[in-house]
Amino acid sequence: MSSMAERMTGCQTLVYGSETIDFSLSFSPRKRLSITVEPTGCVVVKAPEQATSEAVLVQVRRRAGWIIRQRDRFAAFGPVMPPKRYVNGETHRYLGRQYRLRISQGTSSSVKLLGRYFEIVTPDKSDSSAVRELLETWYRQHAEQFFETRLRQCLQSPCFRGLDAPAWSIRLMKRRWGSCTKNGRILLNLLLIQTSPPCIDYVITHELCHLIEHNHTAAFYQLLDRAMPDWRKRKRKLELHEL
Ligand SMILES: [Zn+2]
Repeated sequence: MSSMAERMTGCQTLVYGSETIDFSLSFSPRKRLSITVEPTGCVVVKAPEQATSEAVLVQVRRRAGWIIRQRDRFAAFGPVMPPKRYVNGETHRYLGRQYRLRISQGTSSSVKLLGRYFEIVTPDKSDSSAVRELLETWYRQHAEQFFETRLRQCLQSPCFRGLDAPAWSIRLMKRRWGSCTKNGRILLNLLLIQTSPPCIDYVITHELCHLIEHNHTAAFYQLLDRAMPDWRKRKRKLELHEL
């Protein structure tokens, strides 16, 4: 057996703290080792032909923090989309459905959902930051109503019997869909309003479970299983959402 064949290639695993990093490893004629985290969450490591397995592991370990952050980011938000430009014809989502922007000039500002369109009226239709602000305000107003309704509905589960309706608020968050503070306040990401109702219910139910079990313990997941037996399916759907 040649030394090349003995060297580890293919799928490798590195344990880093409480995290596990699975990565595919290949060797090729190249100068430097490269590490890529693909939008699917797969970690691809390409090493120079001459590198030893130990040297590769040392380098992957050195960048483990970065790999985990990248992976979490993709897991939370799915594929990274090009930034929105807030121009005519551009697609934006609301409750899992796609709508196109139709921007027109007018004396006052307004946003309406009509058919498959966001009808936006603004004094200067070339001012994309004004369009963005109008749309964000519209999302926020609708999210406030929708999340409140869903929160009350999710709270009806027998799992939450006796629980008071928690204080909650909307945040624009980069990395998480929702969170629950130590003193029991639920934060929901504004961007959730772009996903579908089953996904929104999943995030709300997840956070409601945190009012009872603060950490991601076995007891937490047992509670979540009881409150929402199909939460895994919803979570996977949420992870595929393009924002
Ligand atoms: Zn959680």
